[in-house]
Amino acid sequence: MINKKISNTTFRVVILVLLLCAAVSSPACAAVRKEKKLNIVTSAFPPYDFTRSITGDRAEIFMLLKPGSEPHSFDPSPSDIIKIRDCDLFVYVGGESDSWVNGILESLSANEKKPEILRLIDSVNAVKDELMEGMTSYEEELGYDGHIWTSPANAKKIVKTLSDTICRLDRRNAKLYQRNADSEIARIDELDAAFRTIVDVGVRRTIIFADRFPFRYFTDYYNLNYYAAFPGCSSETDAGALTVSFLINKVRSEKIPVVFFVEFSNEKMADVVISVVPTTKKLLLHSAHNVSKADFEGGATYISIMKRNLENLKEALN
Ligand SMILES: [Zn+2]
Repeated sequence: MINKKISNTTFRVVILVLLLCAAVSSPACAAVRKEKKLNIVTSAFPPYDFTRSITGDRAEIFMLLKPGSEPHSFDPSPSDIIKIRDCDLFVYVGGESDSWVNGILESLSANEKKPEILRLIDSVNAVKDELMEGMTSYEEELGYDGHIWTSPANAKKIVKTLSDTICRLDRRNAKLYQRNADSEIARIDELDAAFRTIVDVGVRRTIIFADRFPFRYFTDYYNLNYYAAFPGCSSETDAGALTVSFLINKVRSEKIPVVFFVEFSNEKMADVVISVVPTTKKLLLHSAHNVSKADFEGGATYISIMKRNLENLKEALN
């Protein structure tokens, strides 16, 4: 009898709490109702940042590439492979720098559970690395250039593709994701307009990289000419003597004011060029393929990194 009384009371309390939870949105109740977040794994910084711009904190996002590490020689660890296998959505770029993904995807096909997989290079018109006059390359065949995000037009396509996929996987938050994607696209449009102005008022159309060249999609989009030491995804760091003298001659004959180096570069070749041609100087053009640890922790974004390039490009075109 007593037992029955207790269980009746307990039952009433449980019902009351459930009713309260339905009526009031207190933090404790929210915790009870909390649903599982989408778990997204991304390869490099651009897919990570674009995904974050869409989901905000409504998804768990993990970037495989460690901030500050060289993105062209990434080698996934066993725990990375497990993360890919167990996530809801795996986003990578594709192209030469992401060729490590192929082996992992093959091994996944044998498993029952597979994540949704999104290869971003499929959402744009991809081009192969090209061998320009003066370049050093020991590779037999050049692969697809994966630095697709350096063109703002491509960046917008990437955000759209990502947003469509994420909305399909998490319909509850679809409206929010779409709004966020629209805001990111508006920020990219602003960035594009700022670059366009600099290119339009610039007196030159040629830029020179004493380094590898990850800006092929950028120069194609803004109709700029370029010369560089290596193709975009090259893992070479030592240019042949012919390459160095070719670049020096170009800088001299066209009175080029700036030679660019890229992020994570040893800047050696740029140093050689500016020592031989003291009227030129070296500046960074950051491709955002990966960011430093300090930038990552400081909340750097694709937009903030690309905006840093504005002033340096302006100097190079004047
Ligand atoms: Zn790169």
